[in-house]
Amino acid sequence: MKIMVIFTGGTISMERINNSAVISSSFIDILNTINSSLQDIEIEHIELFMKPSPHISIEDMKTLGDLINKFALDDDIKGIVVTHGTDTLEETAYFLDLYTNTSKPVVITGSMRNISELSYDGPSNLANAILVANSKYSLNRGVLVVLNGEINSAREVTKTHTMALDTFKSLEYGPLGVIDSDDVYYYRDIHFKRRNITPKCILSNVEIIKCYADANSNLINYLVENNTKGIILEGLGRGNVPIKMIEGIKNALNKNIPIVLTSRCMKGRVLDSYGYEGGGNHLKKLGVIFGDNLNSQKARIKLILAISQGYNFQEIKNIFEKK
Ligand code: ASP
Repeated sequence: MKIMVIFTGGTISMERINNSAVISSSFIDILNTINSSLQDIEIEHIELFMKPSPHISIEDMKTLGDLINKFALDDDIKGIVVTHGTDTLEETAYFLDLYTNTSKPVVITGSMRNISELSYDGPSNLANAILVANSKYSLNRGVLVVLNGEINSAREVTKTHTMALDTFKSLEYGPLGVIDSDDVYYYRDIHFKRRNITPKCILSNVEIIKCYADANSNLINYLVENNTKGIILEGLGRGNVPIKMIEGIKNALNKNIPIVLTSRCMKGRVLDSYGYEGGGNHLKKLGVIFGDNLNSQKARIKLILAISQGYNFQEIKNIFEKK
């Protein structure tokens, strides 16, 4: 049985030309290096996209998810590895976590340095991702993110640093496991209920609005007027918003546009703790849905899938708020 590697682009496939990083074809060389050091593992690869990850669309994520679902049915494929730019890696990883349906390992990796840099971390990250995809201990764990010798869950991990090699962190939990001298070790399981949402087509016009001191309703009202299907509010602290946003929130909810509340804090859940106007308790009474401890970009992915699947308000509320 083999490991299928799907290349989609990102720094792992880039080299420096005229002082800036661009996609290069020499990334294929890293597969040759890896093939000779992981001789017991049969590796096949395809190049699906060659994009920097800021160019990856929700449609691209669906194309990738459909391909993974197809590969997962192939008895000859043991696990799947995806290479991806690190900027939006967590969004694609979480999309795949919700959209793909297999007990086989699906592992995403990338690199923080390009092929031209001495500290290029592509080969070690890709080799580690292949080892994780090949491990029997990786079965039934959802989509995994492997960089810098650590294994994290797509649900929990986020990019925390613009250039550090250890940028991917599961801030509240720590990694699921590590790769040490080519062996895969898991320290813990994930305890979030995994959902499988597989819409036939994608409605991606769900936007994120960040809250800040004295923010008003202008942006929310603009979205309401422009056919937005859902809004993620990246709220303050425990899940509160400035008073001037309330009018826009009521406007959106009156038009049946679901609003999911997250926090601009990097850790912790949103909760209906505060009863003042714009506080979480007030927002809950208005009908705002609480996004637990998902960050806003992942809450957006989940809301896109739920709306695309045709979920009603109560079903959307359940997938965000029910454990
Ligand atoms: N800007 C790059 C991308 O996401 C960064 C990377 O891959 O590390 O494509």
